[in-house]
Amino acid sequence: MIVILFGAPGVGKGTQAELLAARKNIPHLSTGAALRKAKADQTEAGRMAAGFMDSGALVPDELVLRIVEETLSSPECAHGAILDGFPRTLAQAEALDEIMSKHGLAISYVINIQVADQAIFERLLQRKRVDDSPEVIRHRMQVYQQETAPILNYYAKRNVVTTIDGNADIETVYKRIDAEFS
Ligand code: AMP
Repeated sequence: MIVILFGAPGVGKGTQAELLAARKNIPHLSTGAALRKAKADQTEAGRMAAGFMDSGALVPDELVLRIVEETLSSPECAHGAILDGFPRTLAQAEALDEIMSKHGLAISYVINIQVADQAIFERLLQRKRVDDSPEVIRHRMQVYQQETAPILNYYAKRNVVTTIDGNADIETVYKRIDAEFS
């Protein structure tokens, strides 16, 4: 089963994905974390991604897709994965469909976590990540609205989208998500 955790930067996708992965024993793929590791390890992909990440822009699809394809082809992901921060463009969503059909996987749930913009802004500022300065946060939120939010329509047509209110503490939001799994 493929579960996509969807939502703007700072809604808690990473935190919830980690909890789900630990409690349900499903591998968790965060493209942001994978890219940050590649950047820290100074791999070729990491060096190519660094400038985009630091400015809050999206990393080019080919680079991100290489990571996703590699991960979903590994034996650990034979039964699926929790995707966090991916897909972020329509081209990525379409490419994911191809990768999944190759591996006999399907999207079971798209969990759309919603949090008020002001609360997101405050959460991100507290996180103190290098790409969490006020200007970069603003840019990432804009990129989300323009490039990523429209993908929801792509999935809504398949009746796999559930919207969750993420304005609550971690455990409460987890329970809301868990209640959606049948
Ligand atoms: P995140 O940890 O999901 O907030 O991602 C941090 C940064 O990594 C983003 O601001 C992008 O620069 C890059 N990134 C992560 N996932 C993707 C993706 N699916 N497509 C393009 N860029 C991504």
